[in-house]
Amino acid sequence: MSDWPNSLARKAIQDLKAYSARGKSTSALHLDANESPWAPPPADSSTSAFNRYPGQQPQDLRNRLADIYGVVPEQLMLGRGADEAIDILLRTFCEARQDKILLCSPTFGYFTTAAQVQGASITDVPLADDFSWDIPAVLNAIEAESPKLTFLCSPNNPTGNSLSAGQIQQVCQASVNGLVVVDEAYIEFSSQNSVIALQSEFQNLVVLRTLSKMYALAGVRMGVCVADPRIIALMLKVLPPYPIPRPVETAVMKALSPATIAVHKSRRNLIRTERDRVFAELQGSDFVEKTYPSDANFILFKAKNIDKMLGELRAANVRIRDFRSKLPDHFRISIGSAEENNIALSIFKGGTKTAVNKRTGEVFRKTNETDIAVQVNLDDPKTVKISTGIGFFDHMLEQIAKHGGLGLTLTCDGDLEIDSHHTIEDTALAFGAALKQALGNKAGIGRYGFVMPMDETQARIAIDLSGRPAFVFDGNFPTESVGEFASEMCPHFFQSLSQALGASIQISVDGDNTHHMIEACFKGVGRALRPAFAKVGGDIPSTKGLL
Ligand SMILES: *Cc1c(COP(=O)(O)O)cnc(C)c1O
Repeated sequence: MSDWPNSLARKAIQDLKAYSARGKSTSALHLDANESPWAPPPADSSTSAFNRYPGQQPQDLRNRLADIYGVVPEQLMLGRGADEAIDILLRTFCEARQDKILLCSPTFGYFTTAAQVQGASITDVPLADDFSWDIPAVLNAIEAESPKLTFLCSPNNPTGNSLSAGQIQQVCQASVNGLVVVDEAYIEFSSQNSVIALQSEFQNLVVLRTLSKMYALAGVRMGVCVADPRIIALMLKVLPPYPIPRPVETAVMKALSPATIAVHKSRRNLIRTERDRVFAELQGSDFVEKTYPSDANFILFKAKNIDKMLGELRAANVRIRDFRSKLPDHFRISIGSAEENNIALSIFKGGTKTAVNKRTGEVFRKTNETDIAVQVNLDDPKTVKISTGIGFFDHMLEQIAKHGGLGLTLTCDGDLEIDSHHTIEDTALAFGAALKQALGNKAGIGRYGFVMPMDETQARIAIDLSGRPAFVFDGNFPTESVGEFASEMCPHFFQSLSQALGASIQISVDGDNTHHMIEACFKGVGRALRPAFAKVGGDIPSTKGLL
């Protein structure tokens, strides 16, 4: 098929010349698009380009997403959610009253809607009773019916299970006269890898991704189709002009700034942990007949005592998704924050409070000098991931996390080409603010101290979580720096931390070795903070030593 993939497209699309939207905006004098010469009021930097049409596929955003998905920009079509990509696939490839799509029900409802809107018919190869895919039946149907598009949703919505890469390969091999569309809306939550990498082997493999789920941007509307550049070129002929509003581009670029990625991943890990906890807890419930293991951020379950369950959910104003029209007695519950899940679980567990609140804090802080994302988790020390660009500083922050018994994800993209000052100071401010948030109003007035001996060095730390910042430092470092870390930044870090955390921090340190002395300060502060974070009694976090 030398004319591939044109030969797959609708005849009208093969012959269509793309609508000429203006290309990348330049510094030229633009008298070509009947725009207003003035930005709309009120004038500020965020609206300065609102009077100009955006790029058809905004280049910076396309580059950023290509980077995140590990492909080249020409492999991407950006649209208003993965939903728009589904619609564009149908309109590009399926001739009304002639072409077919294949899907495996129960699955994502919009495959059906988009096919019906376009007038394509639907071949359904239902999932087996255990919701696994009947691959031999799918292969037979592809051979018999030659669907233009075969939709596979992995992890599947609403069942939550995934296909293996091997199964997807088999379907790609069989689809000689069509495309295989793998909807990976939930892939980030899955134990399986994305199949984007398989595209080098199968040019008929199309992958859909979205920023609505893991990246928390459902309200912004941004999804992408990842495919062979020739497929993308066809789809771009069908995509309406200028589909990505400038405010959307700005919002996405901000939410996906390099510093935020570590926090997105750490939130993803929280969701996975919560999913497994909710799964386990649902199993003992009087309202649950059966739960299905999930690779996504939701759980499908078969319910019992349904009227009572629905009554209690309604009384508590908790909504879950009713799937009874497609699967008798089945419901789907999305995984929320630990606090939200606890509310839902208290219904399923008959009012008994089963879980402990997770205390987390998150701060995103961006200035001209630094771009910082930090997440702390006082109840789960498992994840410690730190990257500030200063090796020694990373190591010191790890010491605070380890000795403080807290999870810490922290990324700082700072102006290190100038010096390390802003990176260290701003990191302290963001870290302190995140700790304060995690402690919430449960942080009482507490006084903690710790003496940290290290070889010849001794650091004595006293911390008072009084809400009032104060800082005292006593110590003289024998050398001016350790690596790129200036010794004077050690007291400055704790001063900034005390300010942002609202704590009085007193440190006195003696020794002959600057590295040891700084390390003793960080470890000692971690140790002194540990009892402040400890939970005392039951599931109510409180601080010891109330005054
Ligand atoms: C949520 C969802 C989508 C839609 O994603 P948007 O990018 O928000 O349009 C696509 N596919 C599946 C399976 C989904 O569950």
